[in-house]
Amino acid sequence: MRPTVLCFSGLDPSGGAGLQADIEAIGQSGAHAAIACTALTIQNSQKVFGFEATSKELLLAQANAVVGDLPIRCVKSGMLGTTDNIAALAQFLREHPDYQYVLDPVLVANSGGSLGNQATLVKAFVELIPLATILTPNTVELRALTGENDLEKATEKLFQMGAKAVLVKGGHEDTPDYIRNALYIDGDMVSESRCPRLEGEYHGSGCSLASFIAGRLALGDGLKQAVQHAETWLFGVLKNAETPVPNGQKIPKRF
Ligand code: PLP
Repeated sequence: MRPTVLCFSGLDPSGGAGLQADIEAIGQSGAHAAIACTALTIQNSQKVFGFEATSKELLLAQANAVVGDLPIRCVKSGMLGTTDNIAALAQFLREHPDYQYVLDPVLVANSGGSLGNQATLVKAFVELIPLATILTPNTVELRALTGENDLEKATEKLFQMGAKAVLVKGGHEDTPDYIRNALYIDGDMVSESRCPRLEGEYHGSGCSLASFIAGRLALGDGLKQAVQHAETWLFGVLKNAETPVPNGQKIPKRF
């Protein structure tokens, strides 16, 4: 049985982001994906119309059903939806300290739609940060989590909050020709990558990257290697992404 990543993520009916992105990315990484569903969202490639979060009891029951059943090596979280779900995941991770954990601190959808109350989610994430093997914030999320506008100070603050490793994703920065990501471990930058900026907006790019990293960690890669593998893979699937409607975000082609 392939090493398994257990994802705590939401359903996106468009199939671009959320748990479908996780399943496809983890499958492509070579690992197996299991899902504890945190929320059912109502959205398409253009807009989020709403969501209904899973109760924390139902969320934990899903996760606990596969513990001891599948060879879980890593947990990955995306949209969590409520502070109750964040607390439930923290409890689950404390019960399983041997699992690696990739924390993608999702606050809003790329289309701008709400995936939870941002102010309360930010406060609750504080409990998850020290439990993560790696966090994968974009710069909007990094600033929101730390309350610091300056990116160096914000990264430093995340380490003061207990982070062990952070991949800062530069897709939201004003660099028209390229995107720069930087990987920090124990407060020090250990690698950076630049790729050409592709045109358009992409639905589920963050989910895909974090999940591929989780898959590679489950298979035994070190952090630096897992991030490099995931960045190379993501660039290919974004280059081949498909546009469903003229106003829609592009859907990564993960196969
Ligand atoms: N999870 C769910 C269920 C979502 O709907 C979204 C965005 O729409 C995300 C996560 C985050 O997506 P992205 O990878 O585009 O940041």
